[in-house]
Amino acid sequence: MVTELMVPRLIERKRDGGVLTAAEWEALIRGYVDGIVPDYQMAALAMAVIFRGLEDAELVALTRAMLHSGARFELGDLDRPRVDKHSIGGVGDKTSLLLAPMLACLDVAVPMISGRGLGHTGGTLDKLEAIPGFRTGLSLAEARRQLERIGVVMVGQTPELVPADRKLYALRDVTGTVESIPLISASIMSKKLAESLTGLVLDIKTGSGAFITDPAQSLILAQTMIQLGEASGCRTIGLLTAMDRPLGVACGNALEVAEAIRGLRGSGPADLMEVTFALGAEMLIAGGVTADRSEARRRVEQVVSSGAALERFRGMVEAQGGDPRVVDDSGRLPRAPVRREVTAGRAGTVSRVEPRPIGQAIVALGGGRMRTEDSVDPAVGFEIRVRPGQRVSAADLVAVVHARSEADADRAEASLAAAIQVGDGSQPLPLISHRVTAAGAESLG
Ligand code: URA
Repeated sequence: MVTELMVPRLIERKRDGGVLTAAEWEALIRGYVDGIVPDYQMAALAMAVIFRGLEDAELVALTRAMLHSGARFELGDLDRPRVDKHSIGGVGDKTSLLLAPMLACLDVAVPMISGRGLGHTGGTLDKLEAIPGFRTGLSLAEARRQLERIGVVMVGQTPELVPADRKLYALRDVTGTVESIPLISASIMSKKLAESLTGLVLDIKTGSGAFITDPAQSLILAQTMIQLGEASGCRTIGLLTAMDRPLGVACGNALEVAEAIRGLRGSGPADLMEVTFALGAEMLIAGGVTADRSEARRRVEQVVSSGAALERFRGMVEAQGGDPRVVDDSGRLPRAPVRREVTAGRAGTVSRVEPRPIGQAIVALGGGRMRTEDSVDPAVGFEIRVRPGQRVSAADLVAVVHARSEADADRAEASLAAAIQVGDGSQPLPLISHRVTAAGAESLG
């Protein structure tokens, strides 16, 4: 039990490079959730962690304290492996919409607890809610019933799960304390471990559009989270994937749902399908279904080519109150009234397609949030038709803007001019550069 008076001594110790004990982390987090430790003290402590980092034992203690701050999604008695995938956040990243139904076809239960858009990055919940009627706010009991019935559920974090992160993340978001490897690791892994998973695959986005932009730091983030997962008995595998350009073509909620459905039909963009199949194969391995990577890859590709994954997606949409007809008719998804084509304007090689300004432009169009209470326009966004390294002539189409008004489209077009650059050359990151496990990092690039 901490008192407000003791907390300054703990903050000072961390500020000066000292170490807090597991009992101290436990008391701090409990005190924060109970309202004894005020936001200003927690913000000072988070800033001290930004500069001083955490020892391994402190990170484990902080993660455990956060995990135990609320209820767990108890699934230990299910007769199948329980596997989830978590992405660190990107632009155009709709892989979760494909992977959850795909894996559910392979005797793996997928209790996917997802987030909303954060900063310039999109969120799976916002994408799902672009489907008319789709409910992401199920109770844990409802989510469990659906998981038993169809093997997949995609929901938001409930108030009972990891309340410490709910409060701490909102505080970090406004106090410049998001970009810390230990704080990100504790935040994500406490939520994932609350899902009673047997396996977890982390999609560690790296490059200019990711939260952690430096690939070397991204590798450390992967290793840090994998250690936390493995220490709690959850087989954890990471793939480092490129976020120096958007993933796929569609960027924006309803546009991404339509592209995910095309992907489930087997006709998604090549980069999206490659990352999806690679992550899906790792989910099968993390779930202990097979240890053979080519066998795992063959099985995830097969549930797409057979149409089984698309049917499971339809079943999930229906089970969660959404209109299943969107699967056959994407015209039933919300559509923006203004559709404007943007051309390259000059000939050359596309040198940059920057995800961050594209994500920020989606927020400005109304497709993301400036404040947590903002509502999201599901229809707006971009189709980004070029990739770094692609040759274009001046008249070639590089993007299509989907906007509410001509004035919004004007502003979005101006943002695209800065985000998509045609020059003399480019050096994009490898789409999937590393596979990381408890045994180490393997270069794939
Ligand atoms: N996503 C999270 O859930 N937490 C972080 O700290 C960063 C990204």
